[in-house]
Amino acid sequence: MTEPSNGPDIGSEDATSTGDDKYLGEWSSIEDVAAAVRTCTRCGLAGTRINAVPGEGSDSPSILFIGEGPGANEDEQGRPFVGRAGKLLDELLGVVPLLRSDVHITNVVKCRPPGNRDPLPEEVRACWPYLEAQIGLLKPHVIATLGRHAMNRFLPNARISDQHGRPTVWRDIIIFPLYHPAAALRSTKLRETLENDIRRLPEAVLQSLEMSAIRSHAETTLSTFTEPSVHDETNRNRLF
Ligand code: SF4
Repeated sequence: MTEPSNGPDIGSEDATSTGDDKYLGEWSSIEDVAAAVRTCTRCGLAGTRINAVPGEGSDSPSILFIGEGPGANEDEQGRPFVGRAGKLLDELLGVVPLLRSDVHITNVVKCRPPGNRDPLPEEVRACWPYLEAQIGLLKPHVIATLGRHAMNRFLPNARISDQHGRPTVWRDIIIFPLYHPAAALRSTKLRETLENDIRRLPEAVLQSLEMSAIRSHAETTLSTFTEPSVHDETNRNRLF
């Protein structure tokens, strides 16, 4: 596994800089987040969308897939990854095998940038609290980013050609960068690479579970030594 990332904490950096922290933790369920997204007017994309696309899937997924933003089909249907790229993603999930309902799929920005342009920094900043809330509520073991842009939100300096299929830790969650399915539609080689990487997702989930077990063991050990208990004297004897 790649060493723990020292990349910027995008969420707190951006959210804090715009005073958006007040939005974090406001929602108690993933449905609450989705409802807020559907009526959101926090950035200019609200004026050009047909439908906001909050995301969909399991409420307790092992894997959260994150793309950069909805395209035309997604904008029309209000659902993520429903075009040709989405069909390929479903197909490749099937080789694991996973169903779309086993995972959760969302985007960095929830409304379509006109003409499929890259979202502007202020649009990403405005939308980031929703993604923060989704990550916090869904608690995925692995975040699988789809495409270079989504990956760079978490690993700002990484190159997709180097980083795809390589787990990296971000805030105790494994980030697992993948090529975007749309790119795989244009290249047989990339399709094979994407399929091979997706086949390794269960391994990344296992790594995450091992990390959690180690963390929880460390916390238990620490609390044994720090919390006042009837065993304090025994612990002291063991420590010194
Ligand atoms: S992109 Fe995000 S912040 Fe902008 S209007 Fe849509 S939901 Fe709101």
